[in-house]
Amino acid sequence: GKWVYLFGDGKAEGKASMRDLLGGKGANLAEMSNLGLPVPPGFTIPTTVCTYFYANNKSYPKELKAQVEKALDIVGKAVGKKFGDAKNPLLVSVRSGARASMPGMMDTVLNLGLNDVTVEALAANASDRRFAFDSYRRFITMYSNVVLGFEHHHFEDVLDTYKDSKGYSLDTDLNADDWQVIVGRYKEVIARETGNDFPQDPHEQLWGAIGAVFGSWMTARAVTYRRLHDIPESWGTAVNVQSMVFGNMGDTSATGVAFTRNPSTGERRLYGEFLINAQGEDVVAGIRTPQEITEAARKESGSDKPSMESEMPEAFAELTRIYQKLEKHYRDMQDMEFTVEQGKLWMLQTRNGKRTTKAALRIAVELANEGLISKKDAVARIEPASLDQLLHPTIDPNAERDIVATGLPASPGAASGEIVFSSDEAAKLHSEGHKVVLVRVETSPEDIHGMHAAEGILTTRGGMTSHAAVVARGMGKPCVSGAGSIRVDYGRGTLSVGGRTFKAGDIITIDGSLGQVLAGRMPMIEPELSGEFGTLMGWADQFRKLKIRANADTPADARTALRFGTEGIGLCRTEHMFFEETRIRTVREMIVAEDEQARRAALAKLLPMQRADFVELFEIMKGLPVTIRLLDPPLHEFLPHTQHEIEEVARVLNTDPRKVADRVRELAEFNPMLGFRGCRLAIVYPEIAEMQARAIFEAAVEAAKRTGKPPVIEVMVPLIATRNEFDIVRDRIDAMAQAVVKETGGKLTYQVGTMIELPRACLMAGEIAKSAEFFSFGTNDLTQTGFGVSRDDAASFLGPYLAKGILETDPFISIDRDGVGELVRIGAERGRKVRAKLKMGICGEHGGDPASVTFCHEVGLDYVSCSPYRVPIARLAAAQAAL
Ligand code: PEP
Ligand code: MG
Repeated sequence: GKWVYLFGDGKAEGKASMRDLLGGKGANLAEMSNLGLPVPPGFTIPTTVCTYFYANNKSYPKELKAQVEKALDIVGKAVGKKFGDAKNPLLVSVRSGARASMPGMMDTVLNLGLNDVTVEALAANASDRRFAFDSYRRFITMYSNVVLGFEHHHFEDVLDTYKDSKGYSLDTDLNADDWQVIVGRYKEVIARETGNDFPQDPHEQLWGAIGAVFGSWMTARAVTYRRLHDIPESWGTAVNVQSMVFGNMGDTSATGVAFTRNPSTGERRLYGEFLINAQGEDVVAGIRTPQEITEAARKESGSDKPSMESEMPEAFAELTRIYQKLEKHYRDMQDMEFTVEQGKLWMLQTRNGKRTTKAALRIAVELANEGLISKKDAVARIEPASLDQLLHPTIDPNAERDIVATGLPASPGAASGEIVFSSDEAAKLHSEGHKVVLVRVETSPEDIHGMHAAEGILTTRGGMTSHAAVVARGMGKPCVSGAGSIRVDYGRGTLSVGGRTFKAGDIITIDGSLGQVLAGRMPMIEPELSGEFGTLMGWADQFRKLKIRANADTPADARTALRFGTEGIGLCRTEHMFFEETRIRTVREMIVAEDEQARRAALAKLLPMQRADFVELFEIMKGLPVTIRLLDPPLHEFLPHTQHEIEEVARVLNTDPRKVADRVRELAEFNPMLGFRGCRLAIVYPEIAEMQARAIFEAAVEAAKRTGKPPVIEVMVPLIATRNEFDIVRDRIDAMAQAVVKETGGKLTYQVGTMIELPRACLMAGEIAKSAEFFSFGTNDLTQTGFGVSRDDAASFLGPYLAKGILETDPFISIDRDGVGELVRIGAERGRKVRAKLKMGICGEHGGDPASVTFCHEVGLDYVSCSPYRVPIARLAAAQAAL
C-alpha cells in the first residue's frame, strides 16, 4: 500500500480533490505545491492509516515505517538537510488534518527533531543561540503537552520562578543562556514527574507525535466536535509532516494568518494579523496582540504598530500575489497561514475560510458579479439554516448605552443574559431555561458545549482569530473578544472593570458588531437585511419550483412574512386568534355552554372579532392566497382551569360556578391531542363552523370593497379521517357562502380543502380528493399519529432516543422520510390520481426545515408553509433542492 504522499518543491503526489485521503490541510498543501507556490516540503500520511490504526489495535501498516524514512530523506535533500543529523538537522512540524476542518480540535508539534545535539547545530547554522534555545524550549513544551500529556503549569512554574530570580518581567528579557538553563530545568521536571527522560532520539520523537495525532482523533473534545458537526468517526485524520520554516528567527521573520476577504463583513480586502519574531501558535493563542497586515487596516484601527505592508514590503507583495492567485484558483474566500523566515514568505495552509452569514452572502454575490462563480454556485453556497443568523436582533440604536468595556467585534449580533464563568454552568443554566452570556479569559475546545448553550460569548484575551472568535462566528453567536480592561476572577465569580464589579447571575449585554460590553439588558430591534441578502434571495427565487407560504395568525405575522417574501398564508390557525384575554373568555363561554342557544350567544360575540381579523389579513395579503383553517383547538386547552376562571365564566353565563365546574370535568380529556378537536368540533357543533365561515365570507366581501380586489380564499378543514367528515363540513361552508352572497350581493370565489394529517387520510387520499380542492399535509399531527408519539409528551424519551442513535433526528423537527414521508408520498400520489390539478402543500413545522423542504420538492408538492422568520430559509432550501 501507499502510505505516504510527498509535496513541496513545485510538485506533489496529491491534489485538492484528494481531500478524503489526505485531509483538508494535506490536500491543499499538495495543491499549493502544484501551483508552484512556496510551500515547505513535506509529506502526508493519509487518513487510511488512521483507519488502519483503529481497526488494528492501534498499530501501523508494516510498510509505513520504511516509507516515512524514505520520505524524510527526500524532504531533507530538498532543503539540504538530514533528519537527526548533528551538523545540519532537518526539523519538522507534525500536524493533524481531517477531511473537514476541525479548528482547535487536533494538536500540532513544531520544531520536532531538536535535542541537546541538534540544538547546537541549529544555533550555529542560524548564528543565533537565543533563537535555537527558544525553539528548543517551545518544542519541549509542545511535545510534552501534546504527546506526553504533561501539564503546562509545571513549565510555567519553572519559568516564573526563574524570571523572578533574575528580576525579568517579559519572556523577551531572557537571553540565550537563560533559555538554555530553562531547557535543562524543563527536562528535569519532566524526568521527575513522569519518571522518564525527555526523548532525545528524533525518530522516537516523530513516531510519538504521529501516534499523538492519531490518538487525538478519539479525544473527548474531538468526539464532541464531530457529534455537533455530523462528522463521521470513520473518516479519520491525516498527519502532515513538513520541514520547518521559522517565524521566530529575529525581526525579519514573522508568522500570520490572513483571509482573502473579511470573514465578518465579506469586504473584498486582504484581512488578517501577523506577529514579528513569533511562531505559528502565538497568533492563534492570542498571547501577544498581533499587528495588522495592510496599511489601510492599520490606519483604520489606529494601531501604532507598523503593518506588514510597511514593515515587510517584499513579503507583503508576495503574499498579495499569492492570495489573489489562490482565490481565483479555489473560486472562494481563502483562510491562509503563512510564515516569513528571514524575509522569505512560505505558505503553510490554505482553505475555504469560515465566515459569518452576512459575509457569506456578500462574498457569494460579489464572486458571482466578478464572474468567478455562477449565480447557481452562489445560491448553492449559502447554508439555508445559517440565514437565521441574519435575523438576529441588534441593540436599538436609540437606547442609552452603559458601556462598561470594549473589546474586539469578533462575531456580529447582540445578546443579553446572565453572566456565567464556566461552560458547565452555562450548559446547566441553559437547560433550565436561562439565557446566559459566557464570560471567559479565553476559550478552548473544552468550552464548546458552554458556547453552544450561551446567547453570546465574552473573552478578555485573544484577537479576531482567537478560538472564541472563530468558533462563535461559526456558530452564529455574538462574541466580543479581547476585552482586556476586564478582570475576571473565577474563584470569586466576579468580573470587574473600571471600579465596577459584576457577579455571576448579573445581566449584561454584548454587542458583537461593535465589540461593546454593556451593563443590563438592552432593547433589541429587528435586523435590516442587506442588499446582498435581497440579491441572493432573488437569484434563489429564479431557481426554485416550490412556492413558499407562511403560517401566520396575526396581522403582525403576516407583515413579517411579506417582508421576508412569502407568497401567501398557508395556515392561519384561527384558534390562535382567540388566545387574547378578552376573547378567551368568550371562547370559554362558548365551550362550556350547555345548549346550542347559549353557544350561539357566545358565537355571536365572537363573529365581529373574527370578521375584523380576516378583513385585516385579506387587506395585508393583497390578493395572495390565504388559507384559513377552521377551529382546531384541543378543546381542553381552552377550558377554564382555575376557580377564578370558572367563576368568571359562570358570572357571564349567569349560572352556578358548580355547574360550570361540572361541565369542565365532563369535557376534560385524558388525551386532548387525539380528542375532541379538528373537524370533530365542526361536526358536533355545526354552529361554530358556520360562525367562522360567515366571518370569512363577510370579511371577503368587505375586503373586496375596500381594496377593489377579491381576496384569494382557501377554507381548510382540520383533522379529517374520512371523506364523509369533509363532505358534511364542506356542505355547511358552501351553504354559508351562498347565504352571504344573498345577503350582501357581493361575489365570492373560494376553495374548500383539507388538512391531511392522519395516516388514514393519507391512505384514503384518493377518496378525499374527490371532494377536497386542496391538500395541506399537517406533518406535526402526521408525525404524532404516524409514530404514535404524543407531541406534548415526547420530550421525556425522544432525548434518550436521539442520544442512543435510535432516531437520527427529531422527527418533529426534520421529517422522517422513510415513514411519515412515505405517508405524505402516498397521500400526494393518490390525491393527484383523482384530481390532477390538486393543489398540495405542507404546513407542519417541517415547512421551514431545509431537509424537509428538499423532501417536499422531491415529492412534487406545490408549496411549503412555515413560520414567517423561516420564509427566507425555505426559499433558499427550495432553490437548492431544484439546482
Ligand atoms: C400539523 O398538524 O402539522 C399542523 C400544521 O397543525 P397543528 O400544528 O396546528 O396541529
Ligand atoms: Mg394538526
